[in-house]
Amino acid sequence: MLKNCIFCKIVKNELLSQKVYEDESVFAFKDINPQAPVHVIIIPKKHITSLSVISVENEKVLGHIQVTVSRIAKQFSELKNGFRLINNCGVEGGQTVLHLHYHLLGGRSFRWPPG
Ligand code: 5GP
Ligand code: ZN
Repeated sequence: MLKNCIFCKIVKNELLSQKVYEDESVFAFKDINPQAPVHVIIIPKKHITSLSVISVENEKVLGHIQVTVSRIAKQFSELKNGFRLINNCGVEGGQTVLHLHYHLLGGRSFRWPPG
């Protein structure tokens, strides 16, 4: 846990969030500034800064997140025809919160390429 990290605070319930899913290693909550009808943030409970600093010891939780995405998606009827999963990594990737997270977005159509 990192003291001044907002997502670590959300995991510890020091900052309120609308929880969507929780287990021993993963936490998911609604984004405060949704970009689609469904916008869920999925994070490892353990603080990892970004995808650019992961190693083999993170394999288990990152694999578990993939399974969790599928499970969370089934909770939302809006996602029955598909969804988008995004990781913004680093400055050029558009990452603003330095605790690794995935955006699960859906309930509307998305364009490609992204902006
Ligand atoms: P990033 O830009 O780092 O990929 O995504 C960070 C996301 O976290 C943004 O979509 C932003 O709206 C969301 N966010 C930032 N602070 C909070 C917060 O305190 N609560 C919740 N629920 N979401 C947050
Ligand atoms: Zn953190």
